[in-house]
Amino acid sequence: MIAGAGMAGLLAARVLAEHYKRVTILDRDRMPDNPGFRSGVPQSPHTHVLLGRGAALLEALFPNIRSEFLKAGAVPLDWPGDALWLTAAGWSRRFRPGISLISLSRDLIEWTVRQRVLDDPRIEMRTSTEATGLLADPDGTRVTGILVRQRGRPGSDHTIGADLIVDATGRRSQCCRWLTTLGYPAPEETSIACDVGYASRFYARPPQERDWRLLLLQAQPPDHTRSGMIACVEGDRWIVSLVGRLGDRPPTDDEGFLQFAATLRSPLLHQALRGADPVSPVRGFGISHSYRRRFDRMSGRPAGFVVIGDAVCTLNPVYAQGMTVAAIGALGLDAELRRSPSSDLTGRLQARIVRASADAWVLAGGEDLRYLALHSGERPPLRNRIMRPYLDRVVRTATHDRHVNRALLRVVNMERSPYSLLNPGVMLHAMQPGKAAPPEAPPLAQ
Ligand SMILES: Cc1cc2nc3c(=O)[nH]c(=O)nc-3n(C[C@H](O)[C@H](O)[C@H](O)COP(=O)(O)OP(=O)(O)OC[C@H]3O[C@@H](n4cnc5c(N)ncnc54)[C@H](O)[C@@H]3O)c2cc1C
Repeated sequence: MIAGAGMAGLLAARVLAEHYKRVTILDRDRMPDNPGFRSGVPQSPHTHVLLGRGAALLEALFPNIRSEFLKAGAVPLDWPGDALWLTAAGWSRRFRPGISLISLSRDLIEWTVRQRVLDDPRIEMRTSTEATGLLADPDGTRVTGILVRQRGRPGSDHTIGADLIVDATGRRSQCCRWLTTLGYPAPEETSIACDVGYASRFYARPPQERDWRLLLLQAQPPDHTRSGMIACVEGDRWIVSLVGRLGDRPPTDDEGFLQFAATLRSPLLHQALRGADPVSPVRGFGISHSYRRRFDRMSGRPAGFVVIGDAVCTLNPVYAQGMTVAAIGALGLDAELRRSPSSDLTGRLQARIVRASADAWVLAGGEDLRYLALHSGERPPLRNRIMRPYLDRVVRTATHDRHVNRALLRVVNMERSPYSLLNPGVMLHAMQPGKAAPPEAPPLAQ
């Protein structure tokens, strides 16, 4: 039984169907018939980059899903070949081949995955069903069911029994309260204030040809903390997201949205929008903290209950890691269930899921601490202070050095661990004295 039919819940269902006779996913939303907005995933109107590793894992779970995405209008994209990418250190050269991505809306990603999951006769979905708590056996050592109610139907509370309950209800999950109600301690939680604000809007893709499919203007702390991007997506549209940090929320009115775009480090994004027609309202979204909960370190846990996805680790979305972490977690479940059974299966499953977010947390958390230090004056941990100058050097070298560019993008796309940037091959290039520098102007012509 899986609570939550977002990306983490759907991917967990796909995997668990290989190990259990029947899998039920429940969600408090009704699911749209087409790729479209639903209130349980309010982040969906914002740019969702499917990182290289995430795309590969989806393909492994759902063969040919990439072709399905493309058939539905998703846009193939080579990063940095098809990207105008202003890094913190300057414009990146457009090396080819880079990382092969596909660009599409979150609604289309989730809808396509949902159709594939529901094609599986072993999986069923109950919609408009809200999870409200857990049911345990009399001595509280095993979770035996989930408490639910029909949305909008007072008095419809009932219990559904299951061998394994997976909480995939996202960053607002109530699972810590559910566990404490059963007498277990809440897991230890690390959180970092990031106060990130998004404002996003879809535009019709203007007819004139451009030689980029992704325009990415990153921040450059401490002076420039705003960022923005345009990505080509299905339906001949652009999705445009503007991002501010530490309480700097981009406005959601027409005028304010454009004014914020005009303050980015390059005028290119603002100029592009001036000739484009919006096809949606501007939608805003804010995340105050990123957090990681150590369900794997709990001193005691009931058997038969695990937590996955954003409910375990909610990352600052600007690093685009959430869906990929959900996929790594789901594949971790699969790997663990294939191993020989042991008395602490729940503990092993949970440990694999928590481990899935380790690299992402190192990368995103390190950056978040850097921004926090600017705001609060709080010094980042020693390890981060030592690594910072080296990482800045890697980013700068990546703008003009093909080898380091690839190494950096593989880390950003979660294909390699952040520690791979310490490999001698990368270090040698990054530490080389030389006059090479990022291109001064945006590398428009290839
Ligand atoms: C602004 C923004 C931009 C992002 N950009 C990216 C990106 O570029 N790339 C990327 O990989 N990730 C991105 N993410 C993260 C990504 O959206 C999530 O990490 C990912 O979708 C996994 O989430 P999840 O499935 O755990 O939770 P969610 O997607 O939040 O899904 C939770 C589900 O649980 C349901 N639910 C909630 N409570 C209950 C309940 N009590 N009972 C029943 N059902 C319930 C909801 O209806 C929903 O269907 C972004 C996030 C934000 C906020």
